[in-house]
Amino acid sequence: MTQYTNGLTQLVSGGRFKNGNGSKLHNLKEEEYFGDNHIASGIETPLKPDAFVLDDQSKMEIIEHHFEQIMETLGLDLTDDSLRGTPHRVAKMFVKEIFYGLHPNNKPTISVFENKFRYGQILVEKNIRLNSFCEHHFLPITGKAHIGYISTGTVIGLSKINRLVDYYSHRPQVQERLTVQIAAELKQVLKTEDVAVLIEATHMCVSCRGIRDESSSTLTTEYSGAFNEDKIRQEFLRYVDHNI
Ligand SMILES: [Zn+2]
Repeated sequence: MTQYTNGLTQLVSGGRFKNGNGSKLHNLKEEEYFGDNHIASGIETPLKPDAFVLDDQSKMEIIEHHFEQIMETLGLDLTDDSLRGTPHRVAKMFVKEIFYGLHPNNKPTISVFENKFRYGQILVEKNIRLNSFCEHHFLPITGKAHIGYISTGTVIGLSKINRLVDYYSHRPQVQERLTVQIAAELKQVLKTEDVAVLIEATHMCVSCRGIRDESSSTLTTEYSGAFNEDKIRQEFLRYVDHNI
C-alpha cells in the first residue's frame, strides 16, 4: 500500500483505489489512475540511465518504424500520398522539436551578469508563451508562465528566462513538475532563493477527451525565499494581474 503526497488518496493493492473512508473511488488500472489524476512523481523527469546512448538519427528511425506500426494497426493505408510521410514527420518532430528538451545537450547556456544597477526590487517577466506536452497522454499543454525574482547581485538576460521555460516545456511533462523544474533552475542560475514561478495552462487531455472540459485551466505556483512572505507574494501577483 502506498501513501501519496496529496494526502487524499491511497493506492490499494489490486488496482482499486480508496479514499480515507475506504469507499471505492475508481476501478481503474494503476496506469490509468496516475494518468487521469496527473500525479507527479518527483522533480526530475524520469529517464532511463541509457536515455542518450542512441543518437538522434537512430531514435528517429526507431520511432518512425513504431509509429508506422501504430498507424497500420489503426487501419490507415500508408500507401496513400497524404499518410506516407507521417511516420517520418512524427519521428522527427518528437526528437528534434517537441521533445528536444529531454536532451541535456540542448539546455540553453545561460550567461549571468553582475547587477550593476543595484536594482534590488522584484523583476517580473510575465506572459511567457508556454507549449508543453502531457506525459500521460502526449497531448499539448498550452499556457503562460510568469516569473519573478529578486536579484542578489546576479542578473540574466530576459530572453534567457523564455529559453529556460521553453527547454523544460519541451519534454513529456506534468505541469507541477514543470513549475518546480523552472524554479529550481532559476534559483541555481541566479544564486538566490527569491524566485517565483506561476504557470496557467490548459491541457488538451482535459479539453478534448475524458471530461472534455474546454473552459478550465490549471494554475501552479512555486514560491521560495522572499516570495513566501505575503507582502512580496502579493506584489508579484499584482504585477502579473496588471495589464500594461
Ligand atoms: Zn494528460
